[in-house]
Amino acid sequence: MRVLLAGYNVDAEVIAEAVSRGLDPDRLTPEILSAAYARISRNPAPVDELRAQARAEVAKARASNEQIVFGLGHASVAEHAVFNFDLMGVSRLAIEAIEAFRLCSYTEKSQRYIRLDDDLVMPEELRALGLEERFRELTAYQHRSYDLLYERLREHVFEKHAALAAEKANRRTLEGWAKEDARYATSLAVEGQLGLTANARTLEHAIRRLAGHPLAEVRAVGAELARLARAVAPSLIRYTEPTAAANARSPELCRLATELLGPDEGQTLPGAAGSVQLVAAPKGGDQTVAAALLHGASSAPWDSCEEQVRALGAADLRAIFDAALAPLGPHDAPPRAFELVALRFDLVISASCFAQLKRHRMATLLCQPYDPNLGFTIPPAISEVGMAGELEGVAQASARLHDAIAERSRAAAPYALTQAHRRRVLVELSARELYHLARLRLDRHAQWEIRGIAERMVGLARQVLPETLALACGKDAFAETRARRFASP
Ligand SMILES: Cc1cc2nc3c(=O)[nH]c(=O)nc-3n(C[C@H](O)[C@H](O)[C@H](O)COP(=O)(O)OP(=O)(O)OC[C@H]3O[C@@H](n4cnc5c(N)ncnc54)[C@H](O)[C@@H]3O)c2cc1C
Repeated sequence: MRVLLAGYNVDAEVIAEAVSRGLDPDRLTPEILSAAYARISRNPAPVDELRAQARAEVAKARASNEQIVFGLGHASVAEHAVFNFDLMGVSRLAIEAIEAFRLCSYTEKSQRYIRLDDDLVMPEELRALGLEERFRELTAYQHRSYDLLYERLREHVFEKHAALAAEKANRRTLEGWAKEDARYATSLAVEGQLGLTANARTLEHAIRRLAGHPLAEVRAVGAELARLARAVAPSLIRYTEPTAAANARSPELCRLATELLGPDEGQTLPGAAGSVQLVAAPKGGDQTVAAALLHGASSAPWDSCEEQVRALGAADLRAIFDAALAPLGPHDAPPRAFELVALRFDLVISASCFAQLKRHRMATLLCQPYDPNLGFTIPPAISEVGMAGELEGVAQASARLHDAIAERSRAAAPYALTQAHRRRVLVELSARELYHLARLRLDRHAQWEIRGIAERMVGLARQVLPETLALACGKDAFAETRARRFASP
Protein backbone atom coordinates (compact mmCIF):
# COMPACT_ATOMS: atom_id res chain seq x y z
CA MET A 1 0.00 0.00 0.00
CA ARG A 2 1.13 3.55 -0.71
CA VAL A 3 -0.73 6.65 0.36
CA LEU A 4 0.69 10.00 -0.75
CA LEU A 5 -0.29 13.52 0.10
CA ALA A 6 -0.85 14.80 -3.45
CA GLY A 7 -1.60 18.42 -2.60
CA TYR A 8 -3.32 20.85 -0.27
CA ASN A 9 -4.57 24.38 -0.44
CA VAL A 10 -1.89 26.99 -0.04
CA ASP A 11 -2.32 30.67 0.85
CA ALA A 12 -2.28 32.86 -2.29
CA GLU A 13 0.44 35.14 -0.84
CA VAL A 14 2.72 32.13 -0.46
CA ILE A 15 2.03 31.19 -4.08
CA ALA A 16 2.82 34.76 -5.18
CA GLU A 17 6.07 34.59 -3.22
CA ALA A 18 7.01 31.30 -4.94
CA VAL A 19 6.27 32.87 -8.35
CA SER A 20 8.33 35.96 -7.49
CA ARG A 21 11.23 33.61 -6.77
CA GLY A 22 10.95 32.17 -10.24
CA LEU A 23 8.52 29.24 -9.97
CA ASP A 24 6.42 28.91 -13.13
CA PRO A 25 2.82 29.73 -12.08
CA ASP A 26 1.53 27.01 -14.39
CA ARG A 27 3.11 24.46 -12.07
CA LEU A 28 0.90 25.75 -9.27
CA THR A 29 -2.46 25.40 -10.97
CA PRO A 30 -5.00 23.01 -9.37
CA GLU A 31 -5.76 21.84 -12.93
CA ILE A 32 -2.76 19.48 -12.60
CA LEU A 33 -4.52 17.40 -9.97
CA SER A 34 -7.82 17.18 -11.78
CA ALA A 35 -6.10 16.31 -15.09
CA ALA A 36 -3.99 13.62 -13.38
CA TYR A 37 -6.99 12.09 -11.65
CA ALA A 38 -9.05 12.30 -14.84
CA ARG A 39 -6.53 9.93 -16.45
CA ILE A 40 -6.80 7.32 -13.67
CA SER A 41 -9.81 5.66 -15.24
CA ARG A 42 -8.06 4.91 -18.57
CA ASN A 43 -4.32 4.91 -17.82
CA PRO A 44 -2.78 2.09 -15.73
CA ALA A 45 0.26 4.16 -14.63
CA PRO A 46 0.49 4.82 -10.86
CA VAL A 47 -1.34 7.96 -9.79
CA ASP A 48 1.83 9.81 -8.75
CA GLU A 49 3.24 9.20 -12.25
CA LEU A 50 0.07 10.57 -13.80
CA ARG A 51 0.55 13.65 -11.65
CA ALA A 52 4.15 13.96 -12.77
CA GLN A 53 3.01 13.81 -16.41
CA ALA A 54 0.33 16.46 -15.86
CA ARG A 55 2.85 18.65 -14.02
CA ALA A 56 5.37 18.36 -16.83
CA GLU A 57 2.88 19.30 -19.55
CA VAL A 58 0.37 21.74 -18.21
CA ALA A 59 -0.92 22.74 -21.65
CA LYS A 60 -1.74 19.08 -22.34
CA ALA A 61 -3.29 18.73 -18.88
CA ARG A 62 -5.54 21.70 -19.64
CA ALA A 63 -6.55 20.25 -22.99
CA SER A 64 -7.38 16.90 -21.40
CA ASN A 65 -9.39 18.60 -18.64
CA GLU A 66 -11.43 20.44 -21.24
CA GLN A 67 -12.02 17.29 -23.21
CA ILE A 68 -12.88 15.10 -20.23
CA VAL A 69 -14.85 17.59 -18.15
CA PHE A 70 -16.69 19.41 -20.92
CA GLY A 71 -16.31 17.18 -24.00
CA LEU A 72 -17.12 13.87 -22.36
CA GLY A 73 -19.19 15.42 -19.57
CA HIS A 74 -17.17 13.69 -16.83
CA ALA A 75 -17.64 16.80 -14.69
CA SER A 76 -16.84 15.17 -11.35
CA VAL A 77 -13.14 15.34 -12.33
CA ALA A 78 -13.30 19.12 -11.79
CA GLU A 79 -14.11 18.47 -8.13
CA HIS A 80 -10.44 17.65 -7.48
CA ALA A 81 -9.44 21.29 -7.98
CA VAL A 82 -10.32 23.42 -4.97
CA PHE A 83 -10.34 27.19 -4.47
CA ASN A 84 -10.48 29.45 -1.42
CA PHE A 85 -11.82 32.98 -1.57
CA ASP A 86 -11.87 35.85 0.94
CA LEU A 87 -15.09 37.81 0.48
CA MET A 88 -15.19 41.17 2.26
CA GLY A 89 -17.60 44.08 2.33
CA VAL A 90 -20.52 42.00 1.08
CA SER A 91 -24.01 42.78 2.36
CA ARG A 92 -25.86 40.37 4.60
CA LEU A 93 -28.51 40.13 1.87
CA ALA A 94 -25.99 39.17 -0.82
CA ILE A 95 -24.41 36.63 1.53
CA GLU A 96 -27.70 34.74 1.50
CA ALA A 97 -27.31 34.19 -2.25
CA ILE A 98 -23.60 33.38 -1.97
CA GLU A 99 -24.16 30.79 0.77
CA ALA A 100 -26.96 29.02 -1.06
CA PHE A 101 -24.73 26.33 -2.55
CA ARG A 102 -24.87 22.98 -0.86
CA LEU A 103 -21.42 21.78 -1.85
CA CYS A 104 -19.46 24.90 -0.91
CA SER A 105 -17.98 25.57 2.53
CA TYR A 106 -18.38 28.88 4.34
CA THR A 107 -17.23 30.58 7.49
CA GLU A 108 -18.78 33.95 8.12
CA LYS A 109 -18.15 36.83 10.49
CA SER A 110 -20.42 36.34 13.47
CA GLN A 111 -22.79 39.11 14.44
CA ARG A 112 -23.01 37.48 17.86
CA TYR A 113 -19.32 37.70 18.66
CA ILE A 114 -18.27 40.87 16.81
CA ARG A 115 -19.69 44.34 17.45
CA LEU A 116 -20.96 45.76 14.18
CA ASP A 117 -19.78 49.10 12.84
CA ASP A 118 -21.77 51.20 10.41
CA ASP A 119 -20.19 49.86 7.21
CA LEU A 120 -23.00 49.32 4.75
CA VAL A 121 -23.26 48.41 1.12
CA MET A 122 -24.91 51.10 -1.01
CA PRO A 123 -26.89 49.03 -3.49
CA GLU A 124 -26.55 50.07 -7.12
CA GLU A 125 -30.31 49.72 -7.59
CA LEU A 126 -31.00 52.40 -4.95
CA ARG A 127 -28.50 54.77 -6.54
CA ALA A 128 -30.24 54.28 -9.87
CA LEU A 129 -33.63 54.98 -8.28
CA GLY A 130 -32.36 58.19 -6.64
CA LEU A 131 -33.06 56.74 -3.18
CA GLU A 132 -29.49 56.95 -1.94
CA GLU A 133 -30.15 59.74 0.55
CA ARG A 134 -33.27 58.14 2.05
CA PHE A 135 -31.41 54.86 2.35
CA ARG A 136 -28.48 56.53 4.11
CA GLU A 137 -30.82 58.22 6.58
CA LEU A 138 -32.61 54.96 7.29
CA THR A 139 -29.47 52.91 7.77
CA ALA A 140 -28.03 55.60 10.07
CA TYR A 141 -31.23 55.29 12.16
CA GLN A 142 -30.92 51.49 12.17
CA HIS A 143 -27.33 51.74 13.31
CA ARG A 144 -28.11 54.26 16.05
CA SER A 145 -30.76 51.86 17.31
CA TYR A 146 -28.27 49.00 17.26
CA ASP A 147 -25.83 51.03 19.39
CA LEU A 148 -28.58 52.11 21.77
CA LEU A 149 -29.96 48.60 22.15
CA TYR A 150 -26.50 47.13 22.58
CA GLU A 151 -25.57 49.51 25.42
CA ARG A 152 -28.89 48.95 27.21
CA LEU A 153 -28.83 45.17 26.72
CA ARG A 154 -25.21 44.96 27.83
CA GLU A 155 -26.06 46.75 31.09
CA HIS A 156 -29.06 44.48 31.58
CA VAL A 157 -27.11 41.27 30.89
CA PHE A 158 -24.33 42.29 33.27
CA GLU A 159 -26.85 43.12 36.01
CA LYS A 160 -28.90 39.98 35.46
CA HIS A 161 -25.85 37.71 35.47
CA ALA A 162 -23.83 39.56 38.07
CA ALA A 163 -22.13 36.39 39.32
CA LEU A 164 -20.91 35.52 35.81
CA ALA A 165 -19.98 39.13 35.12
CA ALA A 166 -17.70 39.15 38.16
CA GLU A 167 -15.29 36.90 36.28
CA LYS A 168 -13.38 38.59 33.46
CA ALA A 169 -13.33 35.38 31.41
CA ASN A 170 -17.14 35.50 31.01
CA ARG A 171 -17.36 39.08 29.78
CA ARG A 172 -17.12 38.30 26.07
CA THR A 173 -19.90 35.75 26.37
CA LEU A 174 -22.13 38.22 28.17
CA GLU A 175 -21.40 40.95 25.62
CA GLY A 176 -22.22 38.37 22.92
CA TRP A 177 -25.70 37.94 24.40
CA ALA A 178 -26.25 41.69 24.09
CA LYS A 179 -24.87 41.80 20.53
CA GLU A 180 -26.97 38.91 19.33
CA ASP A 181 -30.17 40.70 20.31
CA ALA A 182 -29.13 44.24 19.35
CA ARG A 183 -28.36 43.05 15.82
CA TYR A 184 -32.10 42.60 15.18
CA ALA A 185 -32.13 46.36 14.50
CA THR A 186 -29.38 46.21 11.88
CA SER A 187 -29.87 46.45 8.18
CA LEU A 188 -29.67 43.63 5.66
CA ALA A 189 -27.25 45.96 3.85
CA VAL A 190 -24.75 45.72 6.71
CA GLU A 191 -21.37 44.48 5.53
CA GLY A 192 -20.17 41.01 6.39
CA GLN A 193 -17.20 38.92 5.42
CA LEU A 194 -16.61 35.25 4.82
CA GLY A 195 -14.22 32.60 3.66
CA LEU A 196 -15.55 30.43 0.86
CA THR A 197 -14.09 27.13 -0.27
CA ALA A 198 -15.38 25.39 -3.37
CA ASN A 199 -14.28 22.83 -5.88
CA ALA A 200 -14.16 23.88 -9.53
CA ARG A 201 -17.34 22.05 -10.45
CA THR A 202 -19.55 23.59 -7.80
CA LEU A 203 -17.78 26.93 -8.22
CA GLU A 204 -18.66 27.08 -11.92
CA HIS A 205 -22.26 26.21 -11.05
CA ALA A 206 -22.32 28.95 -8.38
CA ILE A 207 -20.81 31.51 -10.78
CA ARG A 208 -23.53 30.83 -13.35
CA ARG A 209 -26.30 31.06 -10.78
CA LEU A 210 -24.88 34.27 -9.28
CA ALA A 211 -24.54 35.73 -12.78
CA GLY A 212 -28.31 35.43 -13.23
CA HIS A 213 -29.21 36.90 -9.83
CA PRO A 214 -31.50 39.96 -9.77
CA LEU A 215 -29.17 41.95 -7.43
CA ALA A 216 -26.26 43.79 -9.04
CA GLU A 217 -24.12 43.21 -5.94
CA VAL A 218 -24.53 39.43 -6.22
CA ARG A 219 -23.80 39.47 -9.94
CA ALA A 220 -20.62 41.47 -9.24
CA VAL A 221 -19.46 38.89 -6.67
CA GLY A 222 -20.09 36.10 -9.20
CA ALA A 223 -18.11 37.96 -11.87
CA GLU A 224 -15.14 38.41 -9.49
CA LEU A 225 -15.16 34.73 -8.54
CA ALA A 226 -15.16 33.85 -12.26
CA ARG A 227 -12.34 36.26 -13.09
CA LEU A 228 -10.11 35.07 -10.25
CA ALA A 229 -10.70 31.33 -10.74
CA ARG A 230 -10.40 31.47 -14.53
CA ALA A 231 -7.01 33.15 -14.22
CA VAL A 232 -5.54 30.07 -12.51
CA ALA A 233 -7.72 27.28 -13.89
CA PRO A 234 -8.98 28.27 -17.35
CA SER A 235 -9.68 24.67 -18.33
CA LEU A 236 -12.09 24.10 -15.43
CA ILE A 237 -14.03 27.38 -15.22
CA ARG A 238 -15.37 27.78 -18.72
CA TYR A 239 -19.09 28.37 -18.74
CA THR A 240 -19.85 31.44 -16.68
CA GLU A 241 -22.83 32.96 -18.45
CA PRO A 242 -26.09 33.08 -16.43
CA THR A 243 -28.08 29.88 -16.28
CA ALA A 244 -31.63 29.93 -17.50
CA ALA A 245 -32.44 27.90 -14.36
CA ALA A 246 -36.07 27.66 -13.29
CA ASN A 247 -36.95 30.83 -11.40
CA ALA A 248 -39.22 30.12 -8.46
CA ARG A 249 -40.71 33.60 -8.85
CA SER A 250 -40.94 33.89 -12.61
CA PRO A 251 -43.60 36.40 -13.71
CA GLU A 252 -45.74 33.56 -15.08
CA LEU A 253 -45.59 31.57 -11.81
CA CYS A 254 -46.40 34.73 -9.82
CA ARG A 255 -49.35 35.45 -12.13
CA LEU A 256 -50.66 31.91 -11.67
CA ALA A 257 -50.14 32.08 -7.90
CA THR A 258 -52.15 35.32 -7.70
CA GLU A 259 -54.87 33.86 -9.93
CA LEU A 260 -55.15 30.75 -7.78
CA LEU A 261 -54.48 32.10 -4.29
CA GLY A 262 -55.68 35.68 -4.56
CA PRO A 263 -53.56 38.79 -3.98
CA ASP A 264 -50.83 38.55 -1.36
CA GLU A 265 -52.34 40.03 1.77
CA GLY A 266 -49.70 38.83 4.19
CA GLN A 267 -50.41 37.77 7.71
CA THR A 268 -48.97 39.56 10.69
CA LEU A 269 -47.52 37.39 13.41
CA PRO A 270 -46.61 39.65 16.31
CA GLY A 271 -43.98 39.02 18.97
CA ALA A 272 -40.92 36.91 19.29
CA ALA A 273 -42.20 33.51 18.34
CA GLY A 274 -42.47 33.30 14.54
CA SER A 275 -44.29 30.17 13.46
CA VAL A 276 -43.57 26.50 12.86
CA GLN A 277 -45.96 24.12 11.15
CA LEU A 278 -45.25 20.52 10.27
CA VAL A 279 -46.97 20.29 6.89
CA ALA A 280 -45.89 16.85 5.68
CA ALA A 281 -44.60 13.73 7.39
CA PRO A 282 -44.72 10.10 6.35
CA LYS A 283 -47.42 7.87 7.79
CA GLY A 284 -45.83 4.93 9.59
CA GLY A 285 -42.42 6.61 9.39
CA ASP A 286 -41.05 4.72 12.40
CA GLN A 287 -41.91 1.47 10.63
CA THR A 288 -40.17 2.64 7.45
CA VAL A 289 -36.98 3.40 9.36
CA ALA A 290 -37.20 0.12 11.29
CA ALA A 291 -37.65 -1.80 8.02
CA ALA A 292 -34.61 -0.03 6.57
CA LEU A 293 -32.59 -0.93 9.69
CA LEU A 294 -33.59 -4.60 9.26
CA HIS A 295 -32.80 -4.38 5.54
CA GLY A 296 -29.28 -3.18 6.33
CA ALA A 297 -28.77 -5.94 8.86
CA SER A 298 -30.10 -8.82 6.74
CA SER A 299 -30.13 -10.14 3.21
CA ALA A 300 -33.92 -9.91 2.92
CA PRO A 301 -35.62 -7.85 0.19
CA TRP A 302 -37.33 -4.58 1.14
CA ASP A 303 -40.86 -5.98 0.87
CA SER A 304 -40.17 -8.70 3.46
CA CYS A 305 -38.58 -6.22 5.88
CA GLU A 306 -41.52 -3.86 5.56
CA GLU A 307 -44.09 -6.66 5.95
CA GLN A 308 -42.33 -7.99 9.07
CA VAL A 309 -42.14 -4.58 10.67
CA ARG A 310 -45.79 -3.74 9.97
CA ALA A 311 -46.76 -6.84 11.97
CA LEU A 312 -44.65 -5.92 15.01
CA GLY A 313 -46.02 -4.69 18.33
CA ALA A 314 -44.69 -1.58 20.05
CA ALA A 315 -42.15 -3.44 22.22
CA ASP A 316 -40.56 -5.26 19.26
CA LEU A 317 -40.43 -2.04 17.25
CA ARG A 318 -38.76 -0.31 20.16
CA ALA A 319 -36.21 -3.12 20.41
CA ILE A 320 -35.10 -2.45 16.81
CA PHE A 321 -34.59 1.23 17.61
CA ASP A 322 -32.84 0.44 20.87
CA ALA A 323 -30.34 -1.70 18.96
CA ALA A 324 -29.75 1.08 16.42
CA LEU A 325 -29.56 3.94 18.94
CA ALA A 326 -27.56 2.28 21.71
CA PRO A 327 -24.12 2.79 20.11
CA LEU A 328 -24.69 6.53 19.49
CA GLY A 329 -22.64 9.15 21.29
CA PRO A 330 -23.46 12.89 21.43
CA HIS A 331 -21.52 13.64 18.22
CA ASP A 332 -22.59 10.63 16.16
CA ALA A 333 -25.03 10.71 13.28
CA PRO A 334 -27.77 8.08 13.45
CA PRO A 335 -27.70 5.36 10.76
CA ARG A 336 -28.46 6.31 7.15
CA ALA A 337 -31.75 4.41 7.41
CA PHE A 338 -32.99 7.55 9.19
CA GLU A 339 -32.77 9.39 5.87
CA LEU A 340 -35.74 7.45 4.49
CA VAL A 341 -38.26 9.67 6.25
CA ALA A 342 -38.63 13.32 5.33
CA LEU A 343 -40.32 16.06 7.33
CA ARG A 344 -41.58 19.25 5.77
CA PHE A 345 -42.05 22.44 7.79
CA ASP A 346 -43.55 25.80 6.90
CA LEU A 347 -41.71 28.37 9.00
CA VAL A 348 -41.96 32.09 9.56
CA ILE A 349 -38.63 33.29 10.90
CA SER A 350 -36.59 36.46 11.19
CA ALA A 351 -33.70 37.30 8.88
CA SER A 352 -31.41 36.74 11.83
CA CYS A 353 -32.74 33.20 12.29
CA PHE A 354 -32.71 32.51 8.55
CA ALA A 355 -29.03 33.46 8.40
CA GLN A 356 -28.38 30.49 10.68
CA LEU A 357 -30.88 28.02 9.26
CA LYS A 358 -29.59 28.46 5.70
CA ARG A 359 -26.25 27.00 6.75
CA HIS A 360 -27.79 23.54 7.11
CA ARG A 361 -26.85 22.36 3.64
CA MET A 362 -28.28 18.87 3.87
CA ALA A 363 -31.84 20.17 3.73
CA THR A 364 -34.10 21.57 1.05
CA LEU A 365 -34.77 25.21 1.78
CA LEU A 366 -37.27 27.16 -0.32
CA CYS A 367 -37.86 30.69 0.79
CA GLN A 368 -40.18 33.53 -0.04
CA PRO A 369 -38.85 37.10 -0.11
CA TYR A 370 -38.74 39.03 3.16
CA ASP A 371 -42.22 40.34 3.83
CA PRO A 372 -42.85 43.20 6.28
CA ASN A 373 -46.49 42.02 6.40
CA LEU A 374 -45.28 39.08 8.46
CA GLY A 375 -44.28 41.48 11.21
CA PHE A 376 -40.91 41.42 12.93
CA THR A 377 -39.28 39.49 15.70
CA ILE A 378 -38.62 41.30 18.96
CA PRO A 379 -36.07 39.51 21.14
CA PRO A 380 -37.53 38.93 24.63
CA ALA A 381 -34.55 40.68 26.24
CA ILE A 382 -35.35 43.84 24.25
CA SER A 383 -38.88 43.77 25.67
CA GLU A 384 -37.46 43.08 29.16
CA VAL A 385 -35.39 46.27 29.03
CA GLY A 386 -38.38 48.26 27.78
CA MET A 387 -36.85 48.93 24.35
CA ALA A 388 -39.42 47.11 22.20
CA GLY A 389 -40.74 50.50 21.04
CA GLU A 390 -37.27 51.43 19.75
CA LEU A 391 -37.07 48.28 17.63
CA GLU A 392 -40.67 48.71 16.48
CA GLY A 393 -39.91 52.27 15.38
CA VAL A 394 -36.89 51.26 13.36
CA ALA A 395 -38.67 48.22 11.86
CA GLN A 396 -41.63 50.32 10.77
CA ALA A 397 -39.43 53.00 9.20
CA SER A 398 -37.53 50.24 7.41
CA ALA A 399 -40.76 48.68 6.14
CA ARG A 400 -41.88 52.06 4.76
CA LEU A 401 -38.72 52.46 2.70
CA HIS A 402 -38.93 48.79 1.69
CA ASP A 403 -42.40 49.38 0.28
CA ALA A 404 -41.29 52.52 -1.55
CA ILE A 405 -38.38 50.65 -3.16
CA ALA A 406 -40.53 47.59 -3.93
CA GLU A 407 -42.75 49.67 -6.20
CA ARG A 408 -39.78 50.01 -8.54
CA SER A 409 -37.42 47.14 -7.62
CA ARG A 410 -38.79 44.19 -5.65
CA ALA A 411 -35.40 42.50 -5.57
CA ALA A 412 -33.59 45.46 -3.97
CA ALA A 413 -36.34 46.33 -1.47
CA PRO A 414 -35.09 43.97 1.31
CA TYR A 415 -31.85 45.98 1.56
CA ALA A 416 -33.94 48.42 3.60
CA LEU A 417 -35.18 45.81 6.07
CA THR A 418 -33.70 44.81 9.40
CA GLN A 419 -32.66 41.44 10.71
CA ALA A 420 -35.89 41.44 12.73
CA HIS A 421 -38.00 41.24 9.56
CA ARG A 422 -39.40 37.92 8.54
CA ARG A 423 -39.84 35.57 5.66
CA ARG A 424 -41.71 32.34 5.09
CA VAL A 425 -39.52 29.33 4.50
CA LEU A 426 -40.40 25.83 3.44
CA VAL A 427 -37.82 23.40 4.73
CA GLU A 428 -37.71 19.67 4.15
CA LEU A 429 -35.17 17.47 5.85
CA SER A 430 -34.67 13.85 6.72
CA ALA A 431 -34.89 12.56 10.28
CA ARG A 432 -31.11 12.10 10.16
CA GLU A 433 -30.53 15.78 9.36
CA LEU A 434 -33.12 16.74 11.98
CA TYR A 435 -30.91 14.94 14.53
CA HIS A 436 -28.01 17.10 13.35
CA LEU A 437 -30.05 20.29 13.52
CA ALA A 438 -31.19 19.34 17.04
CA ARG A 439 -27.65 18.50 18.16
CA LEU A 440 -26.41 21.99 17.22
CA ARG A 441 -29.44 24.16 17.61
CA LEU A 442 -31.07 22.74 20.75
CA ASP A 443 -27.77 23.01 22.55
CA ARG A 444 -27.51 25.75 25.17
CA HIS A 445 -24.90 27.57 23.04
CA ALA A 446 -27.40 28.06 20.21
CA GLN A 447 -29.00 31.46 19.65
CA TRP A 448 -32.43 31.70 21.31
CA GLU A 449 -34.58 32.17 18.18
CA ILE A 450 -33.24 29.25 16.20
CA ARG A 451 -33.24 27.19 19.40
CA GLY A 452 -36.96 27.92 19.83
CA ILE A 453 -37.68 27.09 16.19
CA ALA A 454 -35.67 23.86 16.38
CA GLU A 455 -37.44 22.89 19.61
CA ARG A 456 -40.83 23.26 17.97
CA MET A 457 -39.69 21.40 14.84
CA VAL A 458 -38.37 18.46 16.87
CA GLY A 459 -41.43 18.50 19.15
CA LEU A 460 -43.85 18.29 16.22
CA ALA A 461 -41.78 15.70 14.38
CA ARG A 462 -41.48 13.54 17.48
CA GLN A 463 -45.27 13.25 17.62
CA VAL A 464 -45.20 11.39 14.27
CA LEU A 465 -41.82 9.67 14.65
CA PRO A 466 -41.51 8.91 18.39
CA GLU A 467 -39.07 6.03 18.01
CA THR A 468 -36.98 7.48 15.20
CA LEU A 469 -36.45 10.76 17.06
CA ALA A 470 -36.07 9.28 20.54
CA LEU A 471 -32.54 10.71 20.95
CA ALA A 472 -32.91 13.91 18.91
CA CYS A 473 -31.75 16.62 21.32
CA GLY A 474 -29.07 19.21 21.89
CA LYS A 475 -25.61 17.79 22.44
CA ASP A 476 -25.59 19.08 26.02
CA ALA A 477 -28.74 17.04 26.80
CA PHE A 478 -27.62 13.88 25.03
CA ALA A 479 -26.27 11.94 28.02
CA GLU A 480 -29.42 12.58 30.02
CA THR A 481 -31.77 11.80 27.10
CA ARG A 482 -29.92 8.60 26.33
CA ALA A 483 -29.92 7.54 29.99
CA ARG A 484 -33.68 8.12 30.17
CA ARG A 485 -34.28 6.04 27.07
CA PHE A 486 -32.23 3.10 28.28
CA ALA A 487 -33.01 3.31 31.99
CA SER A 488 -36.44 1.67 31.93
CA PRO A 489 -36.64 -2.09 31.67
C1 LIG B 1 -23.48 27.92 18.34
C2 LIG B 1 -23.12 28.07 16.90
C3 LIG B 1 -22.30 29.12 16.49
C4 LIG B 1 -21.95 29.27 15.14
N1 LIG B 1 -21.15 30.31 14.76
C5 LIG B 1 -20.80 30.46 13.47
C6 LIG B 1 -19.94 31.53 13.03
O1 LIG B 1 -19.50 32.37 13.82
N2 LIG B 1 -19.63 31.64 11.72
C7 LIG B 1 -20.09 30.71 10.82
O2 LIG B 1 -19.77 30.83 9.64
N3 LIG B 1 -20.91 29.71 11.18
C8 LIG B 1 -21.27 29.54 12.47
N4 LIG B 1 -22.11 28.51 12.84
C9 LIG B 1 -22.66 27.63 11.78
C10 LIG B 1 -21.92 26.30 11.70
O3 LIG B 1 -20.57 26.51 11.42
C11 LIG B 1 -22.53 25.43 10.61
O4 LIG B 1 -22.36 26.01 9.35
C12 LIG B 1 -24.01 25.19 10.81
O5 LIG B 1 -24.28 24.88 12.13
C13 LIG B 1 -24.47 24.04 9.91
O6 LIG B 1 -23.85 22.87 10.36
P1 LIG B 1 -23.24 21.82 9.39
O7 LIG B 1 -22.30 22.43 8.43
O8 LIG B 1 -22.68 20.74 10.27
O9 LIG B 1 -24.61 21.28 8.70
P2 LIG B 1 -25.01 20.81 7.25
O10 LIG B 1 -24.52 21.75 6.23
O11 LIG B 1 -26.47 20.56 7.27
O12 LIG B 1 -24.30 19.47 7.07
C14 LIG B 1 -24.71 18.28 7.77
C15 LIG B 1 -23.50 17.40 7.89
O13 LIG B 1 -23.09 16.98 6.58
C16 LIG B 1 -21.68 16.97 6.51
N5 LIG B 1 -21.24 17.95 5.51
C17 LIG B 1 -22.02 18.82 4.83
N6 LIG B 1 -21.29 19.48 3.93
C18 LIG B 1 -20.03 19.05 4.05
C19 LIG B 1 -18.80 19.36 3.39
N7 LIG B 1 -18.74 20.25 2.41
N8 LIG B 1 -17.70 18.71 3.79
C20 LIG B 1 -17.74 17.80 4.78
N9 LIG B 1 -18.87 17.46 5.43
C21 LIG B 1 -19.99 18.07 5.07
C22 LIG B 1 -21.16 17.25 7.91
O14 LIG B 1 -21.05 16.05 8.61
C23 LIG B 1 -22.28 18.07 8.49
O15 LIG B 1 -22.31 18.09 9.88
C24 LIG B 1 -22.45 28.34 14.18
C25 LIG B 1 -23.28 27.29 14.60
C26 LIG B 1 -23.61 27.14 15.93
C27 LIG B 1 -24.51 26.00 16.32
